[in-house]
Amino acid sequence: MNNPNTREVPSWDEYFMMIAMTTAFRSKDPRTQVGAIIVNSEKHIVGTGYNGFAPGYPDTPENWERSKKHSRVIHAERNAILHSHGSISGTCLYTTLSPCLECAKSIVASKVSKVLYLTDREVNADSLVFLGECGVTTERLTPTGIFWWDLSNKFLEKTVNSLTLNNMEIKK
Ligand code: ZN
Repeated sequence: MNNPNTREVPSWDEYFMMIAMTTAFRSKDPRTQVGAIIVNSEKHIVGTGYNGFAPGYPDTPENWERSKKHSRVIHAERNAILHSHGSISGTCLYTTLSPCLECAKSIVASKVSKVLYLTDREVNADSLVFLGECGVTTERLTPTGIFWWDLSNKFLEKTVNSLTLNNMEIKK
């Protein structure tokens, strides 16, 4: 099985999700870090984003308190759209959590064709139905292979508080 002349590498989807995971680590949200990237049909990254405040709004502990942050934070998916280059029509958006309804509306309005998300933790079923109704394909990227399984679990452990690893459907 193990050919010394070959190396097992992540699939394109896994590769881009790993970049979304890396992007999440830039978030200063003390509770949940989310990353999103937008990839075009030529496999070029055309947008990246993580959950955070708009530039100029102070990253104080008070502002990151739940009551305040929910109305002020910009989600990773929307930041990826806001920070994208040119048209993102027909692109694929990789996000570490599944999109909320507000982000789903921006995704549809930007003509993104596909959304891949890493975990079904805090999944918003209504958003996924809405995206489907608007012709956007959605899929959970199920980890395959020990390296990828391990990496995505460690990532979720670190970035999504109170995650129950038993929720992961994959077996070692
Ligand atoms: Zn959102």
